[in-house]
Amino acid sequence: MNKKLNNVYKSTCCYCGIGCGVEITVEKNQLISVAGDTQHPVNQGKLCSKGMNLQYTVNDRSDRLLYPEMRYHRSAPLQRVSWDDAMERTAAVFRALIAKYGPDSVAFYASGQCLTEEYYILNKLVKGFIGTNNIDTNSRLCMSSAVAAYKKTLGEDSVPICYDDIEIADCFLVTGANPAWCHPILWRRVEAHKAKNPATKIIVIDPRVTDTCALADLHLQINPGTDIVLNYALGRLLIEQGDMDLDFIEHHTEGYAQYKERVFERTLLESAAICGVAAEDIELAASYIGESKGFLSMWTMGLNQSVVGVNKNLSLIALNLITGKIGKPGSGPFSLTGQPNAMGGREVGGLANLLPAHRDMDNKTHRDELQQFWSGTIISGKPGLTATEMFEALADGRLKAIWILCTNPLTSMPNVRLVEKALHKAKFVVVQEISNKPQTLAFADVILPAAAWAEKEGTMTNSERRISHLHKAIDPPGEARPDAEIFSLFAEKMGFKGFAYQTPQDIYKEHVQLTVGTSITVQGLDYTLIDSLNTVQWPFNVDKKKGTARLFADNKFHTVSGRAQLHSPPVQYLSEMPDLNFPFILTTGRIRDQWHTMSKTGKVSKLNQHIQNAFLEIHPSDAVSLDLRDGQLANIYSLRGEVRVRARVSNSIKPGVVFLPMHWGKILGSDLNRANNLTNDLVDPISKEPDFKFCAVRVEKH
Ligand code: SF4
Repeated sequence: MNKKLNNVYKSTCCYCGIGCGVEITVEKNQLISVAGDTQHPVNQGKLCSKGMNLQYTVNDRSDRLLYPEMRYHRSAPLQRVSWDDAMERTAAVFRALIAKYGPDSVAFYASGQCLTEEYYILNKLVKGFIGTNNIDTNSRLCMSSAVAAYKKTLGEDSVPICYDDIEIADCFLVTGANPAWCHPILWRRVEAHKAKNPATKIIVIDPRVTDTCALADLHLQINPGTDIVLNYALGRLLIEQGDMDLDFIEHHTEGYAQYKERVFERTLLESAAICGVAAEDIELAASYIGESKGFLSMWTMGLNQSVVGVNKNLSLIALNLITGKIGKPGSGPFSLTGQPNAMGGREVGGLANLLPAHRDMDNKTHRDELQQFWSGTIISGKPGLTATEMFEALADGRLKAIWILCTNPLTSMPNVRLVEKALHKAKFVVVQEISNKPQTLAFADVILPAAAWAEKEGTMTNSERRISHLHKAIDPPGEARPDAEIFSLFAEKMGFKGFAYQTPQDIYKEHVQLTVGTSITVQGLDYTLIDSLNTVQWPFNVDKKKGTARLFADNKFHTVSGRAQLHSPPVQYLSEMPDLNFPFILTTGRIRDQWHTMSKTGKVSKLNQHIQNAFLEIHPSDAVSLDLRDGQLANIYSLRGEVRVRARVSNSIKPGVVFLPMHWGKILGSDLNRANNLTNDLVDPISKEPDFKFCAVRVEKH
């Protein structure tokens, strides 16, 4: 059924949330080649460097896990076992722990790279049958602040825009994001639009000069952590200029009086001094926004990964609300998704505080609906442990077992040495993986080999709510199995009913049923229809057989009152501040040609050529004061650990701020490349997203 002409299979790139369409051609010996899908509405055949090299990550199977392994105690060696033995033992241990300590003693840590069907079955298993909400994903590290802010302002986690708004907008505010490197195909659309329409204004807010700034009419190089002050300064100027949409504010929002009061607390000059940018530049930015007909705000980790990440999001979304620039062509607040299926995961309740189809965990009616639908156990109203909380709970013994799939927390988590301690302490660790590289494998009691991208079928949803169907092109190597199949098997061993799916589409159909009557409905959708419509944006209108490009065109929001909520939280500085011992601010981020913890992109020599090693970006004036020259080794210390990498002395960063890429983990026994030795596990109190972009460090010449 999946086979297309000449062994070509449609799929979607498995890296960033832009969701570019690809065609996989199967050559001989299960080798593949990958090309951009010229018919795909997102990328029309274009791919960035990562997408163009996808085939190498699949064809090189030298690191693949091929069969289940197990050990009976930590000092015993891992040994090859059958799937049956691995799952029998895993189910027996989970049953015993749950019987002794309760369902909250076990947890599952998954990934924004899982397919929607995989997320669905795992959530059903954990929330609906084991009876705990301890299922979280690495989307917690990436998107959860945006999710919380969308819910607070718009009533639901709903990205209002579509990519076609790019060609309509005449003002872009890109803040806390470097889409030229991290969302390249989308950014090429912005570049092409600007080339055709030079009057289009692009404002970039970032403490670093990134490649994205090359296209900017205005770069506001702010001091890290001052985003809310800047957003409020823009809000004040828009009001003073008379550029707010009073009719929209009066009829479709709530909270304007408090918002106005808040933004007038500080003068423009005070704000400029706090943010470290010229007052004239803030005025210019406000005039660009105020004069625009279509205003798109775009952001990602720079706002989300913060101890005040939700408030940063709220202060940004307010700019679209006071100008009425939402639900209209070319306008809206656009959170750029980091991972390929973070959105699809949230549709099926893929975080510790969510339930499927945007149902609320604290709503008993919603919980009862699900319990009835699944015929499982009572669904708890208590939010589960989030990503950082899971490892804290393992470390202090509250949590006994963890099942980690499709993610590599020993590189990606903040304060990662605590995560190492936590895994040492765990009574039982299951690692479900495609590769033998992640450091978590060293802690595993059971290793389950999983199928990779192109080796399994399912769906994903991209940043503009676009659902695509990923066809299976080749078989997984050895005994590796798709994640959904692994969870079906585990459920069977646990004695749970309702997991005997024959195909991924059977799982998808169940998800579709749960969306009926909700604002994310995909009623009537199946794989054949997704294929024939060449991807679909939710909500889907079954009668018209049509998706929805843009939300809130009718100005009716998903809040109780139907109005968008303007929030005006106070400015707070809750991050770890520099002091005499740790005088620099460390910010972390991504580079162009690597993806997350490099278990896929790190295999591709072409991608490794761009930047070969971890580095410390530091301003020339700081380097001089440390007698540190470009290319020399630097030691970087925080209260939590140390890193040793070569310095890149650059004017791209502000004095007093240093930057480390987040991709590198433990290599050849040394973990000194790992940025997360240093980062802080402070989290936003609402979203529980960590403060990856701000902690205090000391730098010394090695
Ligand atoms: Fe893949 Fe994102 Fe590049 Fe598109 S922009 S090819 S989705 S990594």
